[in-house]
Amino acid sequence: MASSFIDKARITVRAGDGGNGAIAFHREKYVAAGGPDGGDGGRGGSIILEVDDHMSTLMDFRYKRKYAAGNGMDGQGKRKFGRNGEDLVIRVPRGTLVRDAETNEIMADMSGSEPFVLCRGGRGGWGNSHFATPTRQVPRFAKAGLPGESRDVILELKLLADVGLVGFPNVGKSTLLSVVSKAQPKIANYHFTTLFPNLGVVWVDEGVSFVMADIPGIIEGASEGAGLGHDFLRHIDRCRLLVHVVDVSGSEGRDPAADFDAINEELARYSPDLAARPQIVAANKTDIMASPEALEALRAHVEALGYPLFEISAAAHKGTRELVEGIAERLSVLPPVTVYEPEYVPRAPKVDADTPLDIQHEGGVWLVEGPWLRRIMANVNFGDYESRMWFDRTLRDAGVFRRLEEMGIQDGDTVSMDGFEFEYQR
Ligand code: GDP
Ligand code: MG
Repeated sequence: MASSFIDKARITVRAGDGGNGAIAFHREKYVAAGGPDGGDGGRGGSIILEVDDHMSTLMDFRYKRKYAAGNGMDGQGKRKFGRNGEDLVIRVPRGTLVRDAETNEIMADMSGSEPFVLCRGGRGGWGNSHFATPTRQVPRFAKAGLPGESRDVILELKLLADVGLVGFPNVGKSTLLSVVSKAQPKIANYHFTTLFPNLGVVWVDEGVSFVMADIPGIIEGASEGAGLGHDFLRHIDRCRLLVHVVDVSGSEGRDPAADFDAINEELARYSPDLAARPQIVAANKTDIMASPEALEALRAHVEALGYPLFEISAAAHKGTRELVEGIAERLSVLPPVTVYEPEYVPRAPKVDADTPLDIQHEGGVWLVEGPWLRRIMANVNFGDYESRMWFDRTLRDAGVFRRLEEMGIQDGDTVSMDGFEFEYQR
């Protein structure tokens, strides 16, 4: 049953490659030799994440794990630009955390409304029309498009709710949510009723409302992977307040105070931080309570620990109004829902510079090519000093400059790397 619920997924995303620039020459009848007129390649499509409030789980990502945006088209003659590749928009439920799979760092918290560009498409290459310099009237090269970014990411759903309901299965959490909000969770008298987390907006008063989350019941040993609960606990990671529902009817032969402790132990095992979250205790099913002693024992137990207790009957709508007001009052003095700050730092790609680059001296130009050169060029922003310095250092470390000098390069010579031209300076 638990497997039908997905709140964590690993996916592979790839932005589109840039199209190649074209090598073409202007042709006209009776004109002997036209100039270069190859157009630029189109930009590759990007991968963009967007929040979709109709989604409440990451289930879709179980069946589809690879996502790719469109490639840019190659440029053509007559200075025709290649078409840009299409962006790919991936929709995620609100509250999805996006982590880089390699480092586990948070890249984005999809809890606002801003779309997030997860992978940028590669730039299109320049057509040879760009290379028509006075000294080189017939440029026979065009720049290849750059590869789009790609990465593995982990999506992790952490609902955005003010209040999280916790408690054993069957204590009446879903019933409570359905009574105080318009949410319609499944209610049934067997364990594991709720397989999906449910969110409900609780209206308290003019301008006062909060969001309550009902997660599937935590069962003992859950935090050690024995049952359902573990995965679900991450949903209430952000909650400002926990409402701990305890069945005081004695109908299942349970001891309410022992239940209360068992759930708190589970919370602590999962996360001490979550166990320390403010709690309000809702003693439920008072309408069918066998004896008031268990309730009073629970009250003494939790109040000694500093938790307020509300007596309710969710099914009979008794005491729920007071509970809701008590929750709102407490929320008014608690900090807002946590929004996670991105911690991901883009890193320069690892360069496997063991494969020597291919260097050719042709027509006064030093052509440098190789498998890893194109990869690192995709990551250089030539408008940025730091980025240029990194590029320079990488080439130096790989021995490229030393080899050029051994081959006789002179100051002021033109070096063409992957279509990019530089003037050589020692
Ligand atoms: P959950 O597993 O904690 O979400 O529990 P549910 O809300 O699904 O409730 C489990 C069962 O307890 C259902 O049959 C409910 O009708 C019943 N129930 C919930 N609240 C009350 C209550 O206050 N009084 C009585 N008598 N039954 C209740
Ligand atoms: Mg339930």
